[in-house]
Amino acid sequence: MVDLSTKLVNVLGDKTATPLAKTFDMHVVGDLLRHYPRRYVELGKASSLADLHVGQHATVLAKVVEAKNYAFGPGGRRTRTEVIVTDDTGARLSLTFFQQRWLADRMTPGKMCLFSGEVGQFNGRLQLTHPDYDLFDEDGDTATSRLSRGILPIYRASGKMPTWKLEAFIGLCLDTLDPPDDALPAQIRDDRGFADMGAALESIHRPHSMAEAMKARDRFRFEEAFVVQTVFAQRRQALEHDRAAGRALVDGGIRTRFEQQLPFTLTDGQRAVVDEISADLAHTHPMHRLLQGEVGSGKTVVALMAMLQVVDAGGQAALLAPTEVLASQHFRGITALLGDLAKGGMIGGAEGATRVRLLTGSMGAKARKEALLDAASGEAGIVIGTHALIQDHVQFAELGLLVVDEQHRFGVEQRAALVDRSEVTPHVLVMTATPIPRTIAMSVFGDLEVSTLRELPAGRQPIQTTVVPYAERPAWLARGWERVREEVGKGRQAYVVVSRIGDEASESETSSLVELHEELTGGALHGLRLGTLHGRMGPDVKEAAMNAFAAGDIDVLVATTVVEVGVDVPNATVMVVMDADRFGMSQLHQLRGRVGRGSNAGLCLLVTGAEVDSPARERLDAVASTTDGFELSRLDVELRREGDVLGARQSGIRSSLRLLSVVKDEKVIEEARAAADDIVAADPALASHPTLAAAVHALEHSEQADYLERT
Ligand code: ADP
Ligand code: MG
Repeated sequence: MVDLSTKLVNVLGDKTATPLAKTFDMHVVGDLLRHYPRRYVELGKASSLADLHVGQHATVLAKVVEAKNYAFGPGGRRTRTEVIVTDDTGARLSLTFFQQRWLADRMTPGKMCLFSGEVGQFNGRLQLTHPDYDLFDEDGDTATSRLSRGILPIYRASGKMPTWKLEAFIGLCLDTLDPPDDALPAQIRDDRGFADMGAALESIHRPHSMAEAMKARDRFRFEEAFVVQTVFAQRRQALEHDRAAGRALVDGGIRTRFEQQLPFTLTDGQRAVVDEISADLAHTHPMHRLLQGEVGSGKTVVALMAMLQVVDAGGQAALLAPTEVLASQHFRGITALLGDLAKGGMIGGAEGATRVRLLTGSMGAKARKEALLDAASGEAGIVIGTHALIQDHVQFAELGLLVVDEQHRFGVEQRAALVDRSEVTPHVLVMTATPIPRTIAMSVFGDLEVSTLRELPAGRQPIQTTVVPYAERPAWLARGWERVREEVGKGRQAYVVVSRIGDEASESETSSLVELHEELTGGALHGLRLGTLHGRMGPDVKEAAMNAFAAGDIDVLVATTVVEVGVDVPNATVMVVMDADRFGMSQLHQLRGRVGRGSNAGLCLLVTGAEVDSPARERLDAVASTTDGFELSRLDVELRREGDVLGARQSGIRSSLRLLSVVKDEKVIEEARAAADDIVAADPALASHPTLAAAVHALEHSEQADYLERT
């Protein structure tokens, strides 16, 4: 009995199984059968040699006339193989292969072969360089039967394991395979006209028409999306059964009073999201929401209102920031916004006021002890700190809401760790300024609901971004520094961002922070008050530098990307990013969000040595072309590869996707999500879908294994 989990060695023998394992990491029949054809060749559409022209992508069926090896390169160690072929028309074509010596022995005169590739020209003659090829050197019957189907699959192959060999091994497996179990429930297949697993495998590997092959691809693409979405549907379902304390809005509580004293009115978007979250919090199952919004779109106020609602209802809230700088800044910002409402138990505190506590690694022992006591006793309604600190040390009397700022700095697993430790499951709100395209939100964060802030508060200043190529336009850089001086002259401030601190050997001309600080002090920015900020400074030194900048005692802050996240100094209007090509697009977008936060327009200069038309320059031009973070993340995704989008963290999911693109297949993912929800709603444990349950288990297991490896 052969099924998808049968070891390949038992079907194909050792000699074949070993290279398949080595080259392609295939171990069981299912691994091989899920190695889908890269594309197909329709024999009926094969060109005759007489009709070829340069630039055409051609497939030809031809007979070998001769094959010769030529040595070239240093010491003649490299081999070029030239094969001359001909067909019925009598025309000849030359094919060139490199480093495949053995080909000459295989392509003996008279042998029939299928070649496929782009037609080029060399010395005035047409040729194919490194075409895909399929040598019909199996026995006559097999060759005839393959050709009679009229359409051949082409597999991702290697020199030792060419596509026709893979095809033969796959054929052997298909011939001996018992009808396989199907991860797609029958109802779902029927609704979409998909064949069952066995028939679909046959169709994708041995189709009789292109349409049949494409239908099978659709089925497997859908299946990939469906299994992933079933994992998320189950997680969502599990959360439904998880109990949280409902924290309904309390009339006349501090949240209401806070709203009345806010110095601005909420945008419509903020209003809508506040209401959405407010409704979530009132439920007795835990909220699990991702709030995404542009830098400066006012996520913190939204989060604060959620926190106050929880405090009013007798719970506590924790705000987790990725860095100490950001935690301190949140603390300052939030206590300032709250005013008297944050002075619980203190002189001058408002009636019913709460207490906000900060917890950072650099705090003195006494302050820290106080903060911990207040968290444990429940005196502190809001505790703000870095993620590590809160997670490891803090006991809460009653944690009702966990707010995680800047999700992209956190693993999903870390978020889970804190939630798991609490006795009552807290509601969770995750905030990110790196907008995640919908498809990716659905694929990667499929267990979160998503809210989006699209508009910026009124009066927010535009940020103009300019690429400054110093090699081509040295004058522009000089002009950039002048602009910094002008802004400082008007009483404003600037950031200069560098990618390195500067202790390491300076292996490139990348501006290091220390060197640049010196250079600017003595040169272009002579006479201005310059400060530095980087990750290797002690926490108190860092804090002091940030405070001095915020207070206006420093004109220009030369910093590493410590300033990337959330730093809020409204008086800063210019940012110069050195070697901007070293940063990712979303990182640059984050960075420039630090300027133009006040009443004056912002300017961001992306200084680079990257050449015109290079991919690096293309990314910078894209950043300069739009300030819309959503548009930018779309461009970003277009310019990146799939794997980068999903990230290392999701590698289990990533490796399960062979046909599905999380970037392009939005509709498929959406449909699969709805279908998975239906199946899971009717049968949460998937008791009547054992094959699907196994596929889901395997996927979760691979994710988990992957996570364990990294901790
Ligand atoms: P982000 O979404 O980047 O975290 P913040 O919450 O830090 O944005 O908000 C940026 C600034 O805008 C803060 O100073 C905040 O007080 C202010 N702000 C927030 N909402 C509004 C609003 N509706 N109108 C005016 N200013 C606002
Ligand atoms: Mg923020």
